[in-house]
Amino acid sequence: MRQKRAKAYRKLMSLYSMSFGFREPYQVLVDSEMCKTSVSQKIELVKQLGVVLQGTVKPMITQCCIHELYLQGKAQQPAVDLAKTFERRKCNHREAIPGDDCLVSVIGETNKHRYAVATQSQELRSKLRIVPAVPVVHVNRAVMILEPPSDATLRAKQAMEEKTLLPSAPEMVKLASTSTAPPEEPPRKKKKGPKGPNPLSVKRKKPKADQPAPPQRKDEDQGKAGNKRKWDDGEADQHVSAPNETANPKRKRRRRDHADGTGRAATEEDA
Ligand SMILES: [Zn+2]
Repeated sequence: MRQKRAKAYRKLMSLYSMSFGFREPYQVLVDSEMCKTSVSQKIELVKQLGVVLQGTVKPMITQCCIHELYLQGKAQQPAVDLAKTFERRKCNHREAIPGDDCLVSVIGETNKHRYAVATQSQELRSKLRIVPAVPVVHVNRAVMILEPPSDATLRAKQAMEEKTLLPSAPEMVKLASTSTAPPEEPPRKKKKGPKGPNPLSVKRKKPKADQPAPPQRKDEDQGKAGNKRKWDDGEADQHVSAPNETANPKRKRRRRDHADGTGRAATEEDA
């Protein structure tokens, strides 16, 4: 396969997988004519399908399509043998209908099972172009060809892209709620505001009224002092008066004297 074509096929298959959820192994519905053609032109059908679809493939044949081959007698036995190696796709047509019609019904309007179709029927190929996202393969002069994406496929892809760009229904609800939210939020912030700088505002309000707050602060200080006592036992008294010590050198001296008295405490303090 030429480089240019290989690149085009890779791009096309990524479109099918990215936009329409195609996954390996790609399921390929093979029609009776394709079985006959690959036998007569000595094409390794499964291998070639893997090459053009650029991945692993699972060839399949419907009951109606293999029935068509049975009807053609012993001359087409090699094609029947080939078809028998494929997975049988139940189409639930009690009496066999023409292969083209069978495949059209199996693909349906949306190709929800994500089949690719390998067919030599011009008529079927044009019918499949109406359905979005049906990779169609045919053989032309012993060369397997993957058709370019149909207009229906490209339209569906574009529609899906536009859908993803636009906000979805739940997103719209969110947007609506957030657009009304901003007027609500600022008041909340104002309410929260006083809580933040509360220690400062409490000090100012002290003389006025707010009495419950100051006791709380005292409790906190006491708690801290308590912790210190736990840490270094006897020196707790000194620590309590610590804030003033830096300003008052006399007390500092006292403390040193005391520390010297209990040699052990001094080392702890230095450390
Ligand atoms: Zn059928």
